[in-house]
Amino acid sequence: MAHSWSTALSSLLIKNGTVVMEDRTLRTDVLAENGRIARIARGISVQTDQIIDAGGEFVLPGVVDVHAHIGDPEFTRREDFTTGTQAAAAGGVTTIVDMVLSTPVDTPQAVRERVERGASESIVDFSLHAGMMNRANIGNIEALTKLGVCSFKTFMCAPYYVDRATFHEIMKNVSRFRAITNVHAEDEELSQKLTFELKKAGRKDPIAHNESKPNVVEEKAITDAIDLARAVRTKLHISHMSTSEGVVLVAKAKREKVDVSAETCPHYLTLTKADVLKLGPYVKVSPPLKTEADILALWRGLANGTVDMISSEHAPGEADEKEVGWDNIWDAWGGVPSIETMLPIVLSEGVNKNRITLQKAAKVLSQNPAKRFGLCPRKGRIAVGADADFAIIDLSIEKKVGASRLHYKVGWTPYEGWVFRGWPTTTILRGEVVARDGQILVKPGSAQFVPMKM
Ligand SMILES: [Zn+2]
Repeated sequence: MAHSWSTALSSLLIKNGTVVMEDRTLRTDVLAENGRIARIARGISVQTDQIIDAGGEFVLPGVVDVHAHIGDPEFTRREDFTTGTQAAAAGGVTTIVDMVLSTPVDTPQAVRERVERGASESIVDFSLHAGMMNRANIGNIEALTKLGVCSFKTFMCAPYYVDRATFHEIMKNVSRFRAITNVHAEDEELSQKLTFELKKAGRKDPIAHNESKPNVVEEKAITDAIDLARAVRTKLHISHMSTSEGVVLVAKAKREKVDVSAETCPHYLTLTKADVLKLGPYVKVSPPLKTEADILALWRGLANGTVDMISSEHAPGEADEKEVGWDNIWDAWGGVPSIETMLPIVLSEGVNKNRITLQKAAKVLSQNPAKRFGLCPRKGRIAVGADADFAIIDLSIEKKVGASRLHYKVGWTPYEGWVFRGWPTTTILRGEVVARDGQILVKPGSAQFVPMKM
């Protein structure tokens, strides 16, 4: 490539950016020294190793993606730390929180192994969730929080189902260390019964998966999770919320001062059951895709602060793991690749369609997730002292999505052929340009593990 700055630099000046900060957006320069933001002011003129002229473009804090299935050593054929974080960097993401897929991260040894792998293979900074939580690993919670792993993923449904009593017990222990319980909220009893009936009727077409988990399945689980969190007085985070009912429940719980937060994902903001008819098993996800009304409610929830953040829920499956679902949807892998298109989707479908402001986009993609998961003050904001992580974006550039230009190992995207307006042009991690116009400019080896502090 023509760029010569792929080695670590000690100082960087971003000139003429329209910089999106926590409380305002203004035309200013930003100086980074030794990986941190050193000064924010107009007309900075100092000698630096590198200068980027943003030419008036918006400078956002680097995106903090708190739900990315990337680092599982058992599933490197779907994605690995390197390919997953290359896709992240190309998409303006500078920090990921790796979410357990199947190999447990529930002991200090497992944490150390994953930190080691991430540090040598990742190209953006990373943190870790613990999971999957169950009765057997509750005793490890304290030791994990001491290593900076303070978010505990728990399932209210298959495949890592725990009963309500165990869930309650996990919450109580997590709260003792002021950590956060991170829940997959779908009701097992209800979805199991519906699945049984669908199978009995011979249903195995793609839409049967959606019918096995209608809105009420999420509604019931979120209701119970909030009730338990209220009783325990603990921090609760609802992963990948997909329904308008969820938005109503979270809004009510927040009014009642329950310490709950909610995340939604690009697919719940763009795709519906109608897309299942076209893309079949490729858009099998859990929770399943819902309706246009749910999409509207989730955008409104983001705009009014009920929904705190957007995560990618990046969970790619290989084409053959998806293709089997045309014949039998129950056999197909559930999950979509989405980390590289997340920021473009928020800019195109959110900001450019006036559903949320750019300031709000930065809040739900960077500030809120960093704060909620204990990565602040280092990550998630443009402020003196914070890590110099940025996504410079062009809000008017239009590009058609094509899997061949994305970095996913699986080689497909649910958004093939979609045209998004608004893309990241430059991604900067701790003062170093890691991606420009979709090109990756660094090699693995300088990523840092960012411990959560709560
Ligand atoms: Zn997930």
